[in-house]
Formats: sequence, C-alpha cells, structure tokens
Amino acid sequence: MFEHLFINLCVFISFLYFAGIVMRNPRKSPIPSPLLMGIFFGILGLALMNFTIPLNHNSIMDLRHLAIVTAAVYIGWIPALLSAFIITTGRILMFGISTQAVVAAIGMLSIGAICGFLSRLRIGNLNKLQSMNTVSLIIIFLALVKNIGISETLKVFPYHFFTSLVVGFIAYFIAEQIKRSNEQYHLLEQSATKDFLTSLNNVRQFDVSYNEALKHAVERNEKLSLLLIDIDHFKNVNDTFGHHAGDEVLKELGKVLKHQSRSFDIVSRNGGEEFSILLLDCPHSHGMVIAERIRGAVEKHPFFISEEKMIRITISIGVSTFPDTLSQDGEEIFEQADKALYLAKRTGRNKVCDFQMVQAIH
Ligand code: GH3
Ligand code: MG
Ligand code: MG
Repeated sequence: MFEHLFINLCVFISFLYFAGIVMRNPRKSPIPSPLLMGIFFGILGLALMNFTIPLNHNSIMDLRHLAIVTAAVYIGWIPALLSAFIITTGRILMFGISTQAVVAAIGMLSIGAICGFLSRLRIGNLNKLQSMNTVSLIIIFLALVKNIGISETLKVFPYHFFTSLVVGFIAYFIAEQIKRSNEQYHLLEQSATKDFLTSLNNVRQFDVSYNEALKHAVERNEKLSLLLIDIDHFKNVNDTFGHHAGDEVLKELGKVLKHQSRSFDIVSRNGGEEFSILLLDCPHSHGMVIAERIRGAVEKHPFFISEEKMIRITISIGVSTFPDTLSQDGEEIFEQADKALYLAKRTGRNKVCDFQMVQAIH
C-alpha cells in the first residue's frame, strides 16, 4: 500500500509543480487559466484514478477527488467543475457505463459542485481544504455504501479517510510553497523592472523596451519617437521644500506623463528627475506635437507637495525619431535626443527641442 501511496504522491507533486509554473505567468497562456487548470487537474484526476491503491483482495481506492479539491482551493469553481467533469467522462470512457460508474459519476460531480461553492467562501486555504476534503469523504462514504454495502465500507473507509487526510495536507503544504515562491517571483520581477517611487518602468526596463521597440520599428518600417524629459531646476524644489516634497513631485509627474501618453506608449523614469517616453509608430512631426502638449500640461499642472502647499514646475524635452535621425543605432538615436534636451536647457528651459535644431546650430 505504501508503495502505491508513494507513486500517487509523486504524481500529485509533479502536477502541482507544473501547475505552479503555468500559474506563474497566467497571462502568457492562450487559454484562460481557469479553463487550462480545469483541464490540467482533470488529467491529474485521471492519472490518480489510474494509479489505484489496493486495500484488500476486492477493494481499491484512489485520490482523484483531491485533484478537484486542490483545483477548487487554489484556482476556483471553474476548474473544480471542469476537472470533475473530465474525471467523470474519462472514467465512463475507460470503464464503460455501469451502476458503479453512475454512482461514481454522481459522486465526482457532486464533489466538483460543492468544492466549487466552498471555493468562493472567504476562509483560509487550509480551512477550505479541510472542509472540501470532509465533504468529499462523506460523498465517497455514501458512494461506497451504495456500491459495496455498509459492512465492507466500514472496513475500508478508515484507509480512505487517513490517506485522503495525509495526502491532502501534503498537497496543501506543497501548493502553499509554490504559491509563495510565485509571489516572491512576481515581487522580484516587479522590483527588477519598475521604479519604486513612480511605478513607471525603471531604466533597465527602458533599455529592454527601447531595443524591442526599435527592432519592431525596423522590421515593420514604422517610425519611433523618443522623448527625453528633465525637470527644470529640480534641485531648487529639493532645496526649498525638502527631499520628501521632491519625491511627491516626481510621483505626480509620473502620473501626468502617463496620463498624457497613449496606453501603449512606454513611459519610464530613467533616473533622478529624468524621464522618457517612447512613442510607438509615431512620426517626428507628431512626436513634436505630443512633446509640446506634454510640456504645456506639466506647466499648467498643480503639484501638491502637502495638503495645502501647491507648486508649479516646468520640464524640458529633447526629441529624436527613428528613422529620421538616419540611424538604426539605439545609442545614437538616444544621444540625439539627449543633445536636443541639452539644447533646450541651454536655450532657456521649459521648451521642446529636437535633433534637427541641434544640427542646425552646428
Ligand atoms: P536643470 O534645469 O539643469 O535640470 O537643473 P536641475 O536642478 O533639475 O538639475 P540637477 O541635475 O542639478 O539636479 C537634479 C536634482 O534632482 C538633484 C537631486 O537632488 C534631485 N534628485 C535626483 N533624484 C531624486 C529623487 O529620487 N528624489 C528627489 N527628491 N530628488 C532627486
Ligand atoms: Mg537631470
Ligand atoms: Mg533637471
């Protein structure tokens, strides 16, 4: 019996591990994750049904209900119902229709429906798992009584009870570990790509997005405009109102820039008080209009550094556009925008300059 139990545990843990990998990035999957997980846990149920655990000469048990329970606890009612349906259909296809099959089908579908309902309760995962496991065991008890009679059921049910309890706890322990490691992964991913103050892309993510956007523009023969933005005399804000007020201004500016750009434009904080916006599929003339609109919006925007104190700031913007800069080299296009920004600073600030203006004065 222990050998079979061990095999069942190995199958269960392997499936949980793969489910954890899929659920790490659910948006990357073409099928909505509740459906995918429903199919996945349905297959797990069928696998568990295949690796039966012999109890005595004429009695066997399996742990397929725990596939439904786990799907219900960690994903929800859709995979609970779907996995129950797959397990039921699979059993009928494999072993044909009989009274036992009908009883098992009703049992599994009831477990799916009740676990689906319980999954919606606002209780902890362990409580959910325990209550679902208890309900499943009651249903399994009734199905056994119907199929093998009460006296035989009383002999074998303790095995069902303890095995289900032990494997249920092990599944809970492992699923919680996987869930926690996925949460840590997301946290790490977030801190590696986002600026903690403004929640915009950080400079590392800017580099990745910039290279991707440039490659995309080259391949599709599109234009790509780059806006480099720097707050004018920001040091004065810090010196006059304090670093905390400076941080509030940076946060608010992040919101203004995001609000002023299209949803698919890439807004980043490249460092300190320097920001950038990548305008995808945007020709130079349009990029200049957008840059001017952003400059004007920031100039008019009230920046509250405390509940009552409001200040105004201005920004300078340097613009360059692929392929108008006649270069496919990301660094060179960036440098052109940087030079344009420097020109805007040198010639009075609170203005937009572009690479053509830089070339004109040389
Ligand atoms: P310019 O118009 O030439 O850009 O002048 P500036 O004062 O904005 O430029 P400078 O580069 O001299 O100063 C930038 C300031 O930005 C200095 C630094 O204290 C401040 N700064 C950089 N990062 C942060 C930050 O995270 N929070 C706050 N509050 N200030 C920051
Ligand atoms: Mg600066
Ligand atoms: Mg500045």
